[in-house]
Amino acid sequence: MAVDVSIVPCKSYDADVCRTALTQALAPFGGLDWVKEGMRVVVKVNLVSAMKPEQAATTHPMLLCELTKMLRERGASVLLGDSPGGLYTAAHLNHVYDVSGMHDCEAAGAELNQDFSQSDASFPEAVCAKKFTYTAYLDGADAIIDFCKLKTHGMMGMTNAVKNYFGVIPGTMKPEYHYKYPQISDFSNMLIDLSTYFKPRICICDAIVGMEGNGPTQGSPREIGAILAAESPSKLDLLAAKLIGLTADDVPTLQAARVRGLIPQTAEELEIAGEPERFIVPDFKTMPAQSSVFFHKAGTGAIGKVVDKIMFQALTPCPKVKKNECIGCGKCAKICPAKAIRMENKLPTIDRKACIHCFCCQEFCPKGAMGVSRPFIARLLNQ
Ligand code: SF4
Ligand code: SF4
Repeated sequence: MAVDVSIVPCKSYDADVCRTALTQALAPFGGLDWVKEGMRVVVKVNLVSAMKPEQAATTHPMLLCELTKMLRERGASVLLGDSPGGLYTAAHLNHVYDVSGMHDCEAAGAELNQDFSQSDASFPEAVCAKKFTYTAYLDGADAIIDFCKLKTHGMMGMTNAVKNYFGVIPGTMKPEYHYKYPQISDFSNMLIDLSTYFKPRICICDAIVGMEGNGPTQGSPREIGAILAAESPSKLDLLAAKLIGLTADDVPTLQAARVRGLIPQTAEELEIAGEPERFIVPDFKTMPAQSSVFFHKAGTGAIGKVVDKIMFQALTPCPKVKKNECIGCGKCAKICPAKAIRMENKLPTIDRKACIHCFCCQEFCPKGAMGVSRPFIARLLNQ
């Protein structure tokens, strides 16, 4: 029976250890035998922000170096790219490359994307993203590898192979997509549409050290000790979720994938090469996704709307400024798609009624000063 997901041990970011683990993880899918001389392989990495490799927010450069060497040995050229939040410009991306250690990958033979143009896609088969704008460097790919990082996520519960595709939307346009798809099910379907459109040849997950707690940028590094690989991003995510104590019920992109028939009901039904039980971290600190059973504006009729409003206020987490950590830079106000943040006396003030709970402000705050406040009832229910 064909393998859905492979999982192998990888205890450190030592070059030899990474190389061995990558080779083992890819083996059930024919290794890199599909790579032909002269092929252009684009590796879509996770470079969410200008953060150091040891902060565990970005795909680790050592893994990318080893993958680059493996691809180059087969005669392929390798391009690494992503569009984090903020400006999609050379100045911003080169700063992200500097901090996240991507220049090591250049030394290994990869190019770092310097094409900051955009392309438009028409995708009539999509469930949500029938038309979208994306980073044009992907157009030159003969094959795409999705190289994600396993982390918690304030809005989506988890970010991994499917969520990594939000990085194909140019940075400054991301807030528009949050606004265009305010319901979590639509946002999740949009992400699956993107991953379907770009058809990764293989997905690889850096779960050597993941991020727990206040992810995707302000959580804490947590050792998991594994590398995963799969041809399907959603199947990879289903097994990755299990490692950090989540099921398809906890992650909106997995709920949507299940409805679309892309994954089985549970991780136990996947055909797995490896022993996932060895890598489960029982006390991994997760973040509940926004409610999967209660969507904003979902009520119908007068009573339904009133109930929705009460439930929404009682259950929905909100961004909250940590005043003693805020430096008053105003980036949160600039990025907020709902224009719900106003700077007053160098401190952000959040209009709760206008907020659409996308957590862009939390994701892009350079100081981790935008926290998540969970209402008492929500905390109680999550006990
Ligand atoms: S982005 Fe962060 S540090 Fe800057 S104003 Fe907003 S909360 Fe404060
Ligand atoms: S305040 Fe934060 S969470 Fe609310 S809409 Fe603005 S960016 Fe999103």
